[in-house]
Amino acid sequence: MKAIASLLTEARQRLPLLLQGDESFAEAKFAEHRQFVSFALIIVALSIPSLWLWDLTTDPTHAQLTLQYRAYYLLGLPLGLAFLSSAFSRRTLVTLMALFLLVGIIVFLEILKLLNDGFIHGMPGFMYGMIISILTSQCLPVLQGFLFTLLAVLLPHLYAATGLIEHFPHLRYGVLMWHALSLTLLAQYAIADNYLKRHLSEMQLKHASEHDPLSGLGNRRLLQQRLHAINNTSAAPKCTSLLIIDIDHFKSINDRFGHDNGDLVITHLGRMLQQIESKDSSSYRIGGEEFAILTHLPTHDAEALAEHIRTQAASAQIISRQGDAIPFTISIGLTCTPTPNEAFDILFSRADQALYQAKHQGRNQTVRL
Ligand code: GH3
Ligand code: MG
Ligand code: MG
Repeated sequence: MKAIASLLTEARQRLPLLLQGDESFAEAKFAEHRQFVSFALIIVALSIPSLWLWDLTTDPTHAQLTLQYRAYYLLGLPLGLAFLSSAFSRRTLVTLMALFLLVGIIVFLEILKLLNDGFIHGMPGFMYGMIISILTSQCLPVLQGFLFTLLAVLLPHLYAATGLIEHFPHLRYGVLMWHALSLTLLAQYAIADNYLKRHLSEMQLKHASEHDPLSGLGNRRLLQQRLHAINNTSAAPKCTSLLIIDIDHFKSINDRFGHDNGDLVITHLGRMLQQIESKDSSSYRIGGEEFAILTHLPTHDAEALAEHIRTQAASAQIISRQGDAIPFTISIGLTCTPTPNEAFDILFSRADQALYQAKHQGRNQTVRL
């Protein structure tokens, strides 16, 4: 009973995430399932036309008439292949797929109309459609998937109501399809929820592998990735500055105040650096008491930023757990890439060299190279 309650609570927490149709989640889900959907569409394209043999067996007199309608489903072949190509966006492919399936239902109803006892023989085909609907909805946000499946199931009723189909066996169809519908929606929900759970835990792992738990800042790996991304972008900004910040005599802070108070200094500096983050600047903790800032500000603004941080650190008032003031200073090495494609290692070692000079010249200062 307890297990069921916690399962429901967990599901309730994820439900808003599932329903909100977050764009990045939808893209990730689509990327994950596009090969799978391609495979499903290719199976549809090959199997539904081949079911013409079924028409031939059940109603040889009229089977000839259904041949051209069966051929419609061959369109699933190029559509399925398009899912494998990165040239088409998610929206284009999903729209085409929805059109293909919704028109496919009309065509399917036409086939059934042409055959003697078509609806009786065609019922398994609707079930088949439900399975395809489960597969294809995997690349849709869950709410759209639900609406799509609902529409697919209700469409024959709507056609019948508007007079497009005559003698539609509403009850016989309903008895079979409404059950299938509830199972389909449940399956869609279960698969989407399962994927969301995996997506969330992957995001958590990714965040943990790219961030430092003590300061909450990005780590060295994230800095390396960001620099790499800047180097690989076609529209690289004109100037990229790297600041390496090192706490002066940190070892003696640990010795005098204890390791846990040393951690207080690290978290304080981390918070300070977090506050200067903007669309142009990002901060990282790249080692024990070493931090970095990557900024696209013009060089003189980057220098002003370095000085602002240095003076802010020197005047910070950190109180130890025992109530003592912990004064600290920082030294900063600053460098700016003359070319946007300069390798991470070269940029980094020049900033490190600048930091070394700042230390050598007496600490609590910024040196630019
Ligand atoms: P300098 O002014 O030349 O930079 O000297 P320093 O003492 O700051 O530098 P050093 O590299 O000799 O010592 C860094 C110290 O930082 C050693 C290590 O024990 C401490 N340290 C590294 N990570 C942490 C941490 O997460 N918490 C605490 N409290 N100390 C750490
Ligand atoms: Mg150091
Ligand atoms: Mg130091």
